[in-house]
Order: sequence, then structure tokens, then C-alpha cells
Amino acid sequence: MRIIKAKSLGLCKGGKDSIDGVKALAASGKKVFVYGQLLHNPRVISELEKQGIKFIEPLPNAKVNGCLVIRAHGVSDAVLEQLKQNNEVVDLTCPKVRAIQKLTKRYQKEGYHIIYLGKPGHPEADATIGNLKKFTLITRLDELKHVPDGKLILVAQSTASLDEFERVSEHVKKLNPTAKIVNTICSSTVERQRGAQEVAGKVQLMIVLGGKESSNTKELFELCKKTTETIWVERPKDIELHLETVRKAQCVGITAGASTPKEEILKLIKIISSPIINRIGEERFMVQSDTDGKEFYEVDLAMPFCECRGFYYNKKECKHIRLARDAKGGK
Ligand code: SF4
Repeated sequence: MRIIKAKSLGLCKGGKDSIDGVKALAASGKKVFVYGQLLHNPRVISELEKQGIKFIEPLPNAKVNGCLVIRAHGVSDAVLEQLKQNNEVVDLTCPKVRAIQKLTKRYQKEGYHIIYLGKPGHPEADATIGNLKKFTLITRLDELKHVPDGKLILVAQSTASLDEFERVSEHVKKLNPTAKIVNTICSSTVERQRGAQEVAGKVQLMIVLGGKESSNTKELFELCKKTTETIWVERPKDIELHLETVRKAQCVGITAGASTPKEEILKLIKIISSPIINRIGEERFMVQSDTDGKEFYEVDLAMPFCECRGFYYNKKECKHIRLARDAKGGK
């Protein structure tokens, strides 16, 4: 069995920076309140809660007993101003999200109508359109009933589907050739979507790891299932319910949403690989860590078995495997 990990997967920079940011604030002795869920990952949230960090959605004029953190998704200017009136606010809005907010406000000021491809109710979408007066919010092309004439710009939520954005832009351009099309989908999102598509084309089964509330994880799931059988799990251990299906596949692909830390991805690989590495007679277990075949780890099970029964994913991390290989003359 082979496991192919998508070239780009898991926690994005904005998500990582926000986790590091709240941890640093808590470590400095401050009482930390985050405005809403920091990101869509229940395990990360519960770990941060254990460190005393609280996730709340107070009324904008409420006062919290500590510092109030704005997560990577941001908030609208009006909400930010209100929150600042009674609180010490630490704004951890992702710079890329802030750039979308800035761009849309500038075009609004210049008299443009904004078509925003995003998810209604998603905090990033709410924050961005919360600053606008003339906009159309759509999640899919078929929701776009009318394309206004004149000054018009199409943008997207940072985690929107690239395929959908391309479909919408084609349609908008046809009906309003002067419309501006600005692809504001984050490069991390694009890389994850392309990486997932690429791997899905090579495997019998795809596993998507990430929060059920996460819109970018949902996009990855939707993309993969167009190509191959796909399972979406929120936590690594949830895959245990599907091990029979996993074992039937010769080649399994893995991707993960932008709120999923590396440790969770490694846990998932460990769970799906352990029945294989423990099976007698199986000669090789492979994890291909990217689709170009670079960083290709191969564990030869004919080698003396690792006494720690540890994780075979990266043989460099296991001194027993390394010692055994050295003893065989490095072959
Ligand atoms: S997906 Fe991109 S824009 Fe959104 S939080 Fe992550 S890095 Fe920022």
C-alpha cells in the first residue's frame, strides 16, 4: 500500500500565526478572549481552552476582563471600532484577508458594485461585506441572477473554490466585458486545492482531514470526490471507523484543511499505516510526501523490525531504523 500526501496541505500561515499569537499573549500572563472560534478545528480549540484562552462572541459594546483578540478572519470596521471602545483589542486578522477588505472598500469608494464569491455567515465573508453597501454575495454561479452593467468588480473569500471563481468570472466577463476580475483566493487555498486534485487522480481513496465547519476543508472534500472515493474525517481517530475501506485501497491520498496542524496529519498517517506495518509478509510500506516524488520515504519491512514500534513515516526520526540500516551497510 502507498500513501500519497498532497504537496500542500494543512495549517495555513494565517492560521498558524493566529495560534502562535494567542499562545504568546497567554504566556505573557494576559487573560485572553478570542472573538469567536479562532479556527475551525475542535482539537486546537480545546487545547487552547486548557491554556485558559476563552472563545466568546460578546456584543460589540461589551467589556471583557482581559485582551480581546480578533482572529485571522477579521471583523468589519464598525465592529472593530465598537470592540475597541471598551477593550484592549489585539488584531490578528490575516494580512491577506485584510488586503481583500482594503481592496473592496477602495473599489466601493470608486463607485464599483462588488460581486463577492463566499460563504454567507462565514466570519471572513461577514467581515468583508460588513464594510460594503453595494454588493452581491454568491456561493455558486447559479445564484448570480443579475450581472450589473458599468463599474463592477468580482472578488472572492480567501478560501473560495478556484474552479467556481473561474466559472463565475467567465460568466461575468461575458455579460459585462469591462468588469474587473480580481482573484483574491489565497495562494495557500489554491495550492491545497490543486494538490488535492492532483493526488485524487492517482489514488483509489482520498482522506480529507479537517473541521466539519471549515469551508476550505469542505471545498477539498467536494473537489476530491469528483475524482475518486473520498472520506472526510474531522479528527484522525475518526478514520478508525473506515479502516476496512482504507485497507482495501492500494493507494491512499491524504489532504487536510487550512486549520489542521501537522501533528494531526501525522496522527492520521500513523493510524492508517499501523495495520499495514504490523502485517506479516508485507514487504514495503511507503509514504510519498509530495506528488513530484521528492522526499520519498520508504520503509523496508524485511529490515529488522523497529523495537520501538514507533512511527515509520520518517525513518530519520527513528534511531532504531537508522541503526539497523547502518548495520546493513547503509543499504
Ligand atoms: S487561507 Fe490564506 S488568507 Fe485565509 S487565513 Fe489562511 S493564509 Fe490567511
